[in-house]
Amino acid sequence: MPYSYDEQNIFAKILRSEIPNETVLETEFALAFNDIAPQAPVHVLVIPKGPYVCYDHLLSEGSSEEILGFNNAILQVIQKLELSPMDGNSGYRIISNAGVYGVQDVPHLHMHILSGRSLGRMIEKD
Ligand code: AMP
Repeated sequence: MPYSYDEQNIFAKILRSEIPNETVLETEFALAFNDIAPQAPVHVLVIPKGPYVCYDHLLSEGSSEEILGFNNAILQVIQKLELSPMDGNSGYRIISNAGVYGVQDVPHLHMHILSGRSLGRMIEKD
């Protein structure tokens, strides 16, 4: 079943500059900005500029340029904020929620990049 994209979602409005954002980085294919309700000292959202609902949507219907461009923007954020353990930094976590089980609130693909403290185990046990 094809995804339907809601043009009125809040990240679409951010991309159209209808509401403000705290930009961390912008490229041809992606925008990275601070989460409005940060869950950690570093909490950046990276979104593609194209109308994709979730990660598998981009991977299945996006062009190679869009997929590479989106992932490259994630790399640029990691490098700009000096998060990579490969560079001797303390690391980060990337999360992308999708659908009901993923508890996705905003129906435009976004990667959460979290860092600045130890983030604990990946998910809470029930
Ligand atoms: P998710 O539950 O994965 O869909 O996460 C949506 C995220 O978007 C949450 O962490 C919100 O705090 C964040 N958010 C919602 N509105 C805004 C906004 N206007 N600017 C920045 N972040 C936002």
